[in-house]
Amino acid sequence: MSYRSKHRQQVHECGQPLCHKIIPINERYCPVHQVKKLAEYRAKKDAYHKSKLGQAIKSQRAKQYDQTERDPQARAFYRTKSWRAVRDATYARDGATCQVCGNVVQDRKVIDHIKPRRLCSPQEALSSANLWTLCYKCHFRKTKLEQIIAKQPNGDNKLAHLDRFWWVKVLREERGKK
Ligand SMILES: [Zn+2]
Ligand SMILES: [Zn+2]
Repeated sequence: MSYRSKHRQQVHECGQPLCHKIIPINERYCPVHQVKKLAEYRAKKDAYHKSKLGQAIKSQRAKQYDQTERDPQARAFYRTKSWRAVRDATYARDGATCQVCGNVVQDRKVIDHIKPRRLCSPQEALSSANLWTLCYKCHFRKTKLEQIIAKQPNGDNKLAHLDRFWWVKVLREERGKK
């Protein structure tokens, strides 16, 4: 293949409907629409962070972070190389996608223990079979449900026996309720 024909294949039209600007294949939008899309994305992100759910997620995350930092065992666990390795492997295995709703997950720190870490044996805590990638929203809902279940009689025992299929079903239902 000559350089020219190869080069010619590496372009496409701007992703904005009705804009037919020809741009390199590795860009999604022409410069004009790129700026527009970025502004839209930022506005959406801003609105989300100001929304009720956005605020609730933020405060739950801050609380969890504090709890982890205050618990010497948890703190040590999340700083181990073995945790980081299995976390990154899980994120890659899941294609950076929430395993409940299919959202893209940009933060690899939202790798969740299906059976909560505090109930896990050391092996289970590092087993990729007990880990999955969740988006902020699904992780928020799961954490809330975990807290409710933990308070029930025999709650921890119940929690320890809930598998990923149960969680997917319940979290998808919750998502439908909004
Ligand atoms: Zn365009
Ligand atoms: Zn999700």
